[in-house]
Amino acid sequence: MIIKIAHLYPDMLNLYGDRGNIIALTQRMNARGIDVQTDAITMGKSFNSDDYDILFIGGGQDFEQDVLLDDLKRGKDTEISKAIHGGKVMLAICGGYQMLGKYYKTYDGKKLEYMGALDFYTEGKEERMIGNYAFKTKEGIEVVGFENHSGRTYLGKGIEPLGRVIKGYGNNGEDKTEGIRFKNTFATYSHGPVLPKNPQFADLLISKAIENKYGKTELASLDDTLEAKARKQVMKLYIK
Ligand code: GLN
Repeated sequence: MIIKIAHLYPDMLNLYGDRGNIIALTQRMNARGIDVQTDAITMGKSFNSDDYDILFIGGGQDFEQDVLLDDLKRGKDTEISKAIHGGKVMLAICGGYQMLGKYYKTYDGKKLEYMGALDFYTEGKEERMIGNYAFKTKEGIEVVGFENHSGRTYLGKGIEPLGRVIKGYGNNGEDKTEGIRFKNTFATYSHGPVLPKNPQFADLLISKAIENKYGKTELASLDDTLEAKARKQVMKLYIK
């Protein structure tokens, strides 16, 4: 088996080691005998989402999100939207998450029109939402992460959040929602990077990608002793 990952803007959107998500996916697949190929889809490079099984986009500052906008609109937006609605696996973090929505109005009043692949929008405020936080997905997975964003994200009707906030701010600090779950798209404010600290979440993405390509397959279990220890420590120190 081989899983192909498109890493969008790896050189521009890589806050708090978001690239670690690719490493975690790769390690967890390699450990199960699944080959992984990752292509860097940088500015100026076009891509066809049909060639990939997983799309990944990390977080960035308002500045990078602005700089990327023209490039995004030269075709990457349609490919990403096609993948999302076609049920492809996608993980989008923070700034990358915001770019899937309709627009992002920065705290200093600049409006960035985004791809509108999903019905939501983001508005920034000067006061940032920063800290270790946690949320729970509908499967009951407790995801621990770190958030740092000025943007408050508001979901349109019928858009399901990825989880409910256990502690922290999440989408907007008001309604306890965190991220978005749409078909096999997972969007979250969680940096950290999120997947190494949350192996169950990583495996959820892997199993969906494999199911899409090869049919439902039971994933062999891995030794997650260290990950469990790290999670326990984070929970104890910052969350519960
Ligand atoms: N620029 C966005 C914000 O501050 C995203 C930041 C991030 O990716 N951490 O809301």
